[in-house]
Amino acid sequence: MNDSPRIQVHIDDITKLAVDAIVNAANTSLLGGGGVDGAIHRAAGRELEFECRMLNGCKIGEAKITKGYKLPARHIIHTVGPVWQGGGKGEAELLASCYTSSLELAAANDCRTVAFPAISTGVYRYPKDEATRIAVDTVSRFIGEKKLPETIIFCCFDDQTAEIYRQAVAALRKG
Ligand code: ADP
Repeated sequence: MNDSPRIQVHIDDITKLAVDAIVNAANTSLLGGGGVDGAIHRAAGRELEFECRMLNGCKIGEAKITKGYKLPARHIIHTVGPVWQGGGKGEAELLASCYTSSLELAAANDCRTVAFPAISTGVYRYPKDEATRIAVDTVSRFIGEKKLPETIIFCCFDDQTAEIYRQAVAALRKG
């Protein structure tokens, strides 16, 4: 019997995680960029870019999957978050869609454990509290109805972000 919670908060570099899939906060070109996207492309190696070139980009709120190449993770799910523009441009729906699209692809590829970065909260400037609430609510609703993925890791890059996630997860458990 495995008692570990299905939603976990870790502080780590997502490129180091040996999980079935890590999610990349990519841009619409899928050809690499800054932040977590740059870190993933550097760690996975040039072969990732070759596969990404065949994918013809990705729309905001959608997701595409590749192999993990030199990463310890088996797959990379690339999703494109919205740029924060004040909240009136459908940002919340698009961000939620990043999480559901990624989870659907993970389930379709038999991924049991998936790690997410805090999508859109870096250079795309989505307010962290809001983005975290959407991430935690959307993931929890999805996995409540499905067997796969079994475990979701919110992989935070710093203590402050991890604390925001821990509070959101605790609020969820209190109902
Ligand atoms: P976006 O363009 O979607 O805003 P960023 O990469 O700028 O994406 O930032 C998204 C989040 O990823 C930020 O909270 C940033 O601190 C975090 N991040 C950056 N590098 C890593 C990494 N190697 N592992 C995990 N999270 C990371």
